[in-house]
Amino acid sequence: MSATDDRGLAPDTLLEVRGLRKLFPLFSQGFVRRRTGEVRAVDDVSFSVRRGETLGIVGESGSGKTTAARCILRALQPSAGEVLFRARRGVVDLATLSERELTPLRQEMQMIFQDPFASLNPRMTVGAIVAEPLVIHGLARGRELEDRVVDILRRVGLKPEHRERYPHAFSGGQRQRIGIARALIMRPALVVADEAVSALDVSVQAQVLNLLQDLQAELGLTYVFVAHNLDVVRHFCDRVAVLYAGRMVELAPTAELFARPQHPYTKALLAAVPQPDPDIPMRFEVEGEVADPSNLPPGCAFHPRCAECFAPCRTERPELRPLSATQQVACHLGDPRYSSSD
Ligand code: SF4
Repeated sequence: MSATDDRGLAPDTLLEVRGLRKLFPLFSQGFVRRRTGEVRAVDDVSFSVRRGETLGIVGESGSGKTTAARCILRALQPSAGEVLFRARRGVVDLATLSERELTPLRQEMQMIFQDPFASLNPRMTVGAIVAEPLVIHGLARGRELEDRVVDILRRVGLKPEHRERYPHAFSGGQRQRIGIARALIMRPALVVADEAVSALDVSVQAQVLNLLQDLQAELGLTYVFVAHNLDVVRHFCDRVAVLYAGRMVELAPTAELFARPQHPYTKALLAAVPQPDPDIPMRFEVEGEVADPSNLPPGCAFHPRCAECFAPCRTERPELRPLSATQQVACHLGDPRYSSSD
């Protein structure tokens, strides 16, 4: 493990993902199982996140956003690519580390899950749940452990006496606060939030988002925020990466993306009506099915649904290219190499 060189990271970059790929093999049924193909869940995704920034990753169900988030934290092993993280000890490639090498780094990067109830052990008290990461890593015990649990509970808007209760005694919003306390008690630098407010009522969503913003300012956190609800992303993220069929199709500062979306898929996403449940596909303003990542169409994966499709779109896959210093898009439209006449 090389922990001393910076691998070309800009000084303010905390995380840089380069060419991330996650393939899931497909096998035939029957006695002799043969490999018949693969699902390209995440394909050649690259982005960086500055310290203190919030990067949103958005897309429909099946876009690869959750798989990408899980690969970053090594809940899944990436098939290819680099996940460079500026750890306290230096820059490391999370994609290549062994479990033993990853264990101490888990303190510095944490995940907040969509369903707080499913991620909290119902047989443990809130105090034990929140303290558990510190106990597992042997980072505190006795009075210090108690003090740190009380401190983080207060920071997330819970009371010290809540330590003695069990998760079922809390509302959805409070349970998400417990999940946040558990993630932050380790004082991580990077927090990956996977649909962290999707399961909450709209009014509670706003409270939890405000809390996450306050904690970011207080504790200097950096967020990767996976979401399907663009309203949430608009108010919470500094920049947004849009994924379609496992590939990044647009990356831009939030204000620019909402004011001047460039990719036809981003435009469709902005016009879509989000459903409260992330597992229910959004109602799109465009015709057609979401591309099947095990059988992607040739050329641009979005072309069967794209009203602006022209000849090169059917055969040539668009690569991400810069439109300005801050905005990138993967679309042949406006590419000087092509004319948009069919
Ligand atoms: Fe549409 Fe072509 Fe752009 Fe794909 S590359 S989004 S098909 S215009």
